[in-house]
Amino acid sequence: MDCIFCKIANKEIPSDIVYENEKVIAFRDINPVAPVHILVIPKEHTESVQTLDDKHLSLLPDIFKAIKEIAEKENISESGYRVITNSGKHGGQEVFHLHFHILGGENIGKLRCK
Ligand code: AMP
Repeated sequence: MDCIFCKIANKEIPSDIVYENEKVIAFRDINPVAPVHILVIPKEHTESVQTLDDKHLSLLPDIFKAIKEIAEKENISESGYRVITNSGKHGGQEVFHLHFHILGGENIGKLRCK
């Protein structure tokens, strides 16, 4: 499958990895829109929230545990941050491998969606 985030998860292309375990990997966004902009993905491919089946749904606690730990490591747990997932064309999704943006390090404001 020609998926750029699968390639990052498989270390076929380089990325700035900030967190990794058996199921989840997180790396810095290549085009950051905030001082801290990290993408958290399940290693196993699924397109978006809309394609989550029972197996993928069971990964969500691991993803949110990763988000919390990354926020602590990046020193944004107290100042705060935004978690976003875009789904489909109208949701502004560009990479069709489920991912959660973590945005922080400054006041993100209400309208910035990624
Ligand atoms: P979305 O619009 O929600 O699908 O977000 C996709 C994000 O992936 C964008 O913010 C891109 O900047 C980011 N992105 C695309 N390719 C890479 C890459 N090779 N490494 C890190 N981030 C990437």
